[in-house]
Amino acid sequence: MLHIENLRAEVDGKEILKGLSLDVPAGEVHAIMGPNGAGKSTLSYVLTGRSGYDVTGGTATLDGEDLLALDPNERAAKGVFLSFQYPLEIPGVPALTFIRTAMNAQRKARGEAEITAQAFLKLAREHAAALKIDFDMLKRALNVGFSGGEKKRMEIFQMAMLAPRFLILDETDSGLDIDALKIVSEGVNAMRSPDRGMLVITHYQRLLDYIKPDKVHVLAGGRIAATGGPDLALELEREGYDKYARAA
Ligand code: ADP
Ligand code: MG
Ligand code: MG
Repeated sequence: MLHIENLRAEVDGKEILKGLSLDVPAGEVHAIMGPNGAGKSTLSYVLTGRSGYDVTGGTATLDGEDLLALDPNERAAKGVFLSFQYPLEIPGVPALTFIRTAMNAQRKARGEAEITAQAFLKLAREHAAALKIDFDMLKRALNVGFSGGEKKRMEIFQMAMLAPRFLILDETDSGLDIDALKIVSEGVNAMRSPDRGMLVITHYQRLLDYIKPDKVHVLAGGRIAATGGPDLALELEREGYDKYARAA
């Protein structure tokens, strides 16, 4: 599914990713952990094509297709989805309108017709019910005045509606209380599927008690410095990143 080889990227002329290689097969959930400033967010931005993050070498493909050659909208249309570390509030735009616009933009990029209002509402009602979201909340301006837990629920709803093929969660657990953490984890676990891959970026092991990763990678020195199973996350929690940061 996702295949990254020897990826190099810089921000403001400073090299952040220095030959990073990583494979996430379809159906698997991989965690990336690493010290602050290691380049975890840079990796997620490079994969989604945010401007200002310049790739200077290496490759990243999704199902064999060169991701780096696509513009951000095309990547989204291929199903690459990045969750927000800090959910945006959009005054005046109801959550449902926002999601429908995003969905139709993706369909358009895939050469598909817009979803009908009827089909969209049916889908929205199904997912809202599954996530125990009050449908009226979806008519309010996106995230404005929502509690932390409601914002997270909204993000999971958005994910479920857009049904991405490859999901990147970048420190989506930061600042969450235990209830919100459970909402996010349950939502993410419900999205596990044999043809979907996920990259869970986190600074803390705690999230991985709820989202069991198939593999855990350490990002340090601009590369994947170590790979292991869930035990590696526990080791990092105990011993920190020093060992890997020094070796890198
Ligand atoms: P992490 O997510 O692992 O904490 P980041 O990818 O956010 O790390 O940052 C990696 C490095 O790149 C840091 O040294 C950071 O200061 C730098 N960096 C990230 N984004 C920018 C930016 N927009 N402008 C300048 N430097 C940046
Ligand atoms: Mg950071
Ligand atoms: Mg970050």
